[in-house]
Amino acid sequence: MTEEEVLDHVKSGRVFYLSPDHFDERMMTVAEMRAIFSYSYFNAFWQYEDPPCAEKLHALLKSGLHSNGFIACRDVLKYPVLCELFAYEIMKVIERRLMIPQRAPRIDAVASSAYSAISLGWEVARFMSNKYNRTIAHVVVEKDSRGNPTVIRGGIDPGVNVLILNELMTTGGGSTLETRKAVLTCNGDDPAPTVLEPAFVLVHRSKDYTLADGSAVQPVFHFDIENFEPEECPYCKAGSEAIKPKVGDGTNWRRLHGQI
Ligand SMILES: [Zn+2]
Repeated sequence: MTEEEVLDHVKSGRVFYLSPDHFDERMMTVAEMRAIFSYSYFNAFWQYEDPPCAEKLHALLKSGLHSNGFIACRDVLKYPVLCELFAYEIMKVIERRLMIPQRAPRIDAVASSAYSAISLGWEVARFMSNKYNRTIAHVVVEKDSRGNPTVIRGGIDPGVNVLILNELMTTGGGSTLETRKAVLTCNGDDPAPTVLEPAFVLVHRSKDYTLADGSAVQPVFHFDIENFEPEECPYCKAGSEAIKPKVGDGTNWRRLHGQI
């Protein structure tokens, strides 16, 4: 299908009937991804489109930072049909970036962290098992008591080549970095497995194209979304109010979209 046909498909409510076959091996465009995430069933995408002003609200994130965008991957990826669709998009980027004839690395495992990236990582590992390596494993990086993804039960064999993937990246120091560090330290004082570069990120809402340790990141979909400390937030300075996007009955979400 063409981009126009896919957008029509989404608009007419047939989003759950999209499949990887509909894209004929071309990449899904940013407009298509955004249309799927914005579909009213998910309400998973919001971005402040205009210069800061008092009339329009902006987002207060869980971290306490303020932002001009909000993307709720969980609300889309929790549906197996959509998770498969987006895992396939990651696969295409992995193939273009890594699976170059004569130079493709051996991929033994895909590691992804709790929670939304777990099912995504599993789907990518499943696609790769069918196409490249029947013995590829999926490794879950669990959250520790502070909520950071640092725990890999049982470690990973040091001879294993591990691909890192994440559903969302906001900064180079966040969960993508922590997932990578978890793999590198999962055997304690014993030799670590090899972590392949780049790490793959489905939704990149960041200015960073490397992680804080200097390793490379490959986005699938990039958005120019910024975060601000409240006292430095240009939206607050313009008189805009910051509200939590996803609380309660959806009132805040509709307010962000200017619907009420
Ligand atoms: Zn603000």
